[in-house]
Amino acid sequence: QKPLLKVEGLKKYFPIKKGMLGRTTGYVKAVDDISFYVNKGETLGIVGESGCGKSTTGRVLMRLLEPTEGTVEFDGKELTSLSTSEMRKMRRDIQMVFQDPYASLNPRHTIGKILEEPLLVHGISDAKERRKSVVKFLEIVGLNAYHAKRYPHQFSGGQRQRIGIARALMTNPKLIIADEPVSALDVSIQAQVLNLMQDLQKEFDLTYIFIAHDLGVVRHISDRVGVMYLGKMVEIAPSEQLYANPLHPYTQALLSAVPVPDPDYVKEQVLIDGDIPSPANPPSGCTFHTRCPFKMDICTKVSPKLVERENGQSVACHLYSGQEGTDIEMKEKEMEG
Ligand code: SF4
Ligand code: MG
Repeated sequence: QKPLLKVEGLKKYFPIKKGMLGRTTGYVKAVDDISFYVNKGETLGIVGESGCGKSTTGRVLMRLLEPTEGTVEFDGKELTSLSTSEMRKMRRDIQMVFQDPYASLNPRHTIGKILEEPLLVHGISDAKERRKSVVKFLEIVGLNAYHAKRYPHQFSGGQRQRIGIARALMTNPKLIIADEPVSALDVSIQAQVLNLMQDLQKEFDLTYIFIAHDLGVVRHISDRVGVMYLGKMVEIAPSEQLYANPLHPYTQALLSAVPVPDPDYVKEQVLIDGDIPSPANPPSGCTFHTRCPFKMDICTKVSPKLVERENGQSVACHLYSGQEGTDIEMKEKEMEG
């Protein structure tokens, strides 16, 4: 089976401009050479701290941002080579759900108008059909026809996110990129929205990319999870494996920070030393070396590649790679010890 989405060598660099002439003095490497795929019907979780490039990745896939380099193959087509009309059609197939539904819903438009808009933009069906669809999708997300006449401020955060999800569904998309869709919601509401998204996935045969800043949120919804750090994918694995046996020291640290459900059980925390470095000036070699408890000499010099270990679990870390230098370094360490 071919993946629905295949991303290779994706880069998104933002120029840093200085002075009156706006000279480019460097680049923020927001996304720095990442590759991954998403199979049809599955959910890929993408997790990392703010500034790791996960949202930028989502926006590049939506073509809200142009990639600096790399290829994105969606449904058998290379996106950068599409004609304008093909691109328009493709935009129906990939929809986005945003973190803050309030900011993404026009406050002066009724919910009916907001939901109708994607159909108008793509010239789908006539006015009567469009109104029918609006009601249908309101009901599908647990709202009703009456809500179509109301405005965004008249809804709770959870309801607004339901509206955001309904809007994403209007064009009958294949892929939904959800960028922290529950981060702004109360914990009790989070579970409802996650359950709704899982039900919708089955009902409409949807594929999800689910972006989050902690591993707890994506645990139950994801088939596979990718962990990003400073623009790089540092580990990607089937969920079960990632949570049971995280290989990358950063994944291990993130997992130890996931709250334990039993309050009487205080889990030993592996704290990550220091702040996340600036993506405008990332550390040399492995960009995690400034915070890694397992740092070796090679880590400051050589950037580790993402290498598949076993059963679809890939990791970018010299602790596991047989890359040049690693074995020698390890032996040196042994001899010293
Ligand atoms: Fe730590 Fe080195 Fe692995 Fe980077 S490559 S995560 S610094 S051990
Ligand atoms: Mg973000």
